[in-house]
Amino acid sequence: MNPVLTEDRPKNSRGEPQLRSVIPFSRIDCSGNEQRYISEVLESGWLTTASKSAELESRISEMTGATHALAVNSCTSALHLALVALDIQPGDKVLVPTWTFAATAEVVQYLQAVPVFLDVDYATGTITAENVEAAIQAHPDAKVLMVVHYGGQAAPMLDSESPGIVSVCRKHGLRIVEDAAHAFPARDGEVAVGNIGDITCFSFYANKTMTTGEGGMLLTNDDEIAKRARVMRLHGIDRDVWARFTQPKAKWEYDVIAAGFKYNMPDINAALGLAQLERLQPMRAHRQAVAKRYADGLSSLPALTLPSLRVHPEHHAWHLYTVYVNSSARMSRNELIDQLQQDGIGTSVHYKPLHRLSYYRDTHSLRNEDFPVAEQLWKESLSLPIYSLLSMADVDYIVERLHVHIGGNG
Ligand SMILES: *Cc1c(COP(=O)(O)O)cnc(C)c1O
Repeated sequence: MNPVLTEDRPKNSRGEPQLRSVIPFSRIDCSGNEQRYISEVLESGWLTTASKSAELESRISEMTGATHALAVNSCTSALHLALVALDIQPGDKVLVPTWTFAATAEVVQYLQAVPVFLDVDYATGTITAENVEAAIQAHPDAKVLMVVHYGGQAAPMLDSESPGIVSVCRKHGLRIVEDAAHAFPARDGEVAVGNIGDITCFSFYANKTMTTGEGGMLLTNDDEIAKRARVMRLHGIDRDVWARFTQPKAKWEYDVIAAGFKYNMPDINAALGLAQLERLQPMRAHRQAVAKRYADGLSSLPALTLPSLRVHPEHHAWHLYTVYVNSSARMSRNELIDQLQQDGIGTSVHYKPLHRLSYYRDTHSLRNEDFPVAEQLWKESLSLPIYSLLSMADVDYIVERLHVHIGGNG
C-alpha cells in the first residue's frame, strides 16, 4: 500500500508528520484455502460447473435452510432468473426501492416490465411494511416486490409487534424477491435471509462479504421456481451439463425447452467460494467488532448519525458501515470525503439513488421531491471501511480523523 503524507497528519515525537499506509475502502481477504482449492480445480481439468459449484450450493442450502440453492455467475443473473421464474411479463409492475444499486431495477427492464420506485426508511435505509402498503394502494396491480437488505441488515420482513413486509405482500398476493447482495449471512430474528421471501439472491462479487470473484446464488423453497430457474440458468437445457456427463445413459442427448441464459457458476469460482465459506463466521464477527468500535468512538459526535440497528448485531452481515453527516456539521459530506481522502482513508457513498440516475429518471419521469428520505440519505451518507483485514488501529485512526474534521462544535 502506498504511504501518504499530509499536512495535518498526527505528529511523531520529533514533531514530524507521520507516514501512514493508505486505508482502502475495501480489501479482499483470501487468507484461507483459496489458492489450494483453486489449484485442485485446475488439476482436475474440469473448470466449469461441476462438483465444487454443487458443493457450494448444498452448503448454502444447509446454512440457510432453503430447499434449493442455485449457483450462478452474479447476483444480477440471480435477480434476472428470479423474475423469469416468476413469469414476469412486459408491462408487469415490480416494486423496487430507489435506495439500491442499479442491478435491482435493471433486471425489471430486461423483461420490459415496469419498475415502481419506493422511498425508504431513514433509520435503516430499507423499505418498511408501510412503504410497501402505500405502494400497493397506489399500484394494486403490482406483481412482485424487490427487497434490499441495505448494508447487511434484514429489512423488517417478519411480524414483530406490527405486520412485517412478508404479511403485507401475502395479503395482497405479491411475490417477494430479496436482493440480498449485502446480506450473507444475515437473519431476521430466528429465520435466515435466504429462507424468508419467495426467492433470495446473494452476491459473491469481489467486494461483498463473501466472494467467488464474480458470482451469486438464487435460493427458494418453491420446487416449481427452482425448476424454471435451473433450466433458464443454462440455455434452457432440460438438465445441466454435469448431469449429462455423469448419468450413465444418453450422454449426448438433451432438449432445449426455452431460450435460456448462460448464467452458471464455473468451478474455479465455486472453489474460491468454498474457501471463503470456511471463514464466513470469523470474517463476519470481525466486521461486527469493527462496527462496535466505530459506534463507541463516534457516538459522541453530534454531527454524525450512526447506523441504526433493528436486528441483533450477530444477525447483521455488516457489509457496510454507513454514517450520516448532519446539516449541523461544519463541512458537507463531500468535503469530508475529500478530507478523509487526504488522510489516506478510502470511503464511498451507497448509493446515488436510482431516481437520480438519468436512465431511470428520464424513462419513468421521476422527481427528486417524491423521494424525500432517499434524498436526505443521498446528501448525508458516507460509508466507512469495514472488512476482515481492517485493523482496530486503523479504525481508531479513522475515528480520530472524523473527530478532527467534524468534532467539537460540529
Ligand atoms: C453488488 C450488488 C448487486 C449486484 O451483484 P453482482 O453479483 O455484481 O451482480 C445487486 N444489488 C446490490 C444491492 C448490490 O450491492
